[in-house]
Amino acid sequence: MSDHNENPPLGTMTPRRRPKPDVKEIDGRRLKPSTLMMGHGFDPKLSEGSLKAPIFLTSTFAFESAAAGKRHFEGITGKRPGGAEGLVYSRFNNPNQEIVEDRLSVWEEAEDALVFSSGMSAIATTMMALVSQNDVIVHSGPLYAATETMIAKIMSKFGITFLDFPAGAKPEDIQEMLQKAKDIADDRGSKVALVYLESPANPTNALVDIEGVSAARDAVFGTGDDMPPVAIDNTFLGPLWQRPLDHGADIVLYSLTKYVGGHSDLVAGAALGEKRWLDPIRAMRNTIGTITDPNTAWMLLRSLETVELRMSRAGENAAKVCAFLKTHPKVEGLGYLGMIEDARQQDIYERHCLGAGSTFSVFIKGGEEESFRFLDNLKIAKLAVSLGGTETLASHPAAMTHISVSDDRKAALGITDNLVRISIGVEDADDLIADFAQALDAV
Ligand SMILES: *Cc1c(COP(=O)(O)O)cnc(C)c1O
Repeated sequence: MSDHNENPPLGTMTPRRRPKPDVKEIDGRRLKPSTLMMGHGFDPKLSEGSLKAPIFLTSTFAFESAAAGKRHFEGITGKRPGGAEGLVYSRFNNPNQEIVEDRLSVWEEAEDALVFSSGMSAIATTMMALVSQNDVIVHSGPLYAATETMIAKIMSKFGITFLDFPAGAKPEDIQEMLQKAKDIADDRGSKVALVYLESPANPTNALVDIEGVSAARDAVFGTGDDMPPVAIDNTFLGPLWQRPLDHGADIVLYSLTKYVGGHSDLVAGAALGEKRWLDPIRAMRNTIGTITDPNTAWMLLRSLETVELRMSRAGENAAKVCAFLKTHPKVEGLGYLGMIEDARQQDIYERHCLGAGSTFSVFIKGGEEESFRFLDNLKIAKLAVSLGGTETLASHPAAMTHISVSDDRKAALGITDNLVRISIGVEDADDLIADFAQALDAV
């Protein structure tokens, strides 16, 4: 037996990096995520009493001993399950990234978390880890444009094929599609490797029935080895307003660039879920180096301290702004989760969502010309893509983020020339209403 199965002699252990014990409850009361964001996963005693975690700007870490180095590499390479127990090299792990992962897990009550250099690198690394040559992917539509590109243009280079269903599809139609995907995979001698969701869909805010998808997956595949995981991009509503792991999803993906980062000053991503799903993704991240850097990880620690405060305020602001816009004579309609008109969408909302979010679409009476006039007259809201920051942003998807989408597909997805997408920030709600009022007057 090799030495890693024995208890290492005292003095050869890596100095501990995580606080012990980490206070997670007081007198039987489980502490809330917003409380844990200030200290969980970091012990000032381990860093000269520094209240905030220092930024560990180092590419590599000195081993206590040769045996410790061997043990750490066994963890990194998966020779020994459970991941690395020590710090090795910043492409694999670093303290700032590990603290962010510990804190992100708290929000989702996830067993494990991985942070990435961007939302897209989280999504791409997940797909590369879980999908093999000739496999089949089933996904909801529409998806974030770069995710669509990843599946349709990049994964397809490896012989991967895909089927997609509209976000609001009924469970029986999803089940039929999964069965079709399984038949295709059986014919090809491959497997359905991934069920990939994005909910709500951008920019229409159409919701996917995560519970329905998970039940359909179980019905078609059972719980055997060939069961594909259900992964979901939760960027628009997480971590506050939707908890997909509670509804049968296996992997939750994020662009942390949006609400979690929240200040429009960083780019990062994450994947959360059970270790059984994340271990291969971690191994892929170790290989290709899509981990977040220490500076960005430190910024995310700053952001997580206020994520509940920011999202709550933005959500309250959005409700007030939408109440104003709803009855405005120059507004044709709203795509806001707090004012759903479709009964099936409302049912999905009530089962899955804890809040309506602060990103929505507003349909201006008229077309591109009227929408542009509205956008050009905004004084507080800035014209920019992205969302989830402290500042209010407005954009025109048909002419910007979705400009390369064909007219047919735009029509099918409901991306019209009079659709303006708004992401509400944490400004004063009445100031925002005054801004929208004067911009609409100018139309
Ligand atoms: C922004 C975004 C992404 C991509 O994230 P990056 O951090 O820009 O790589 C993926 N999905 C959704 C829903 C997004 O909004």
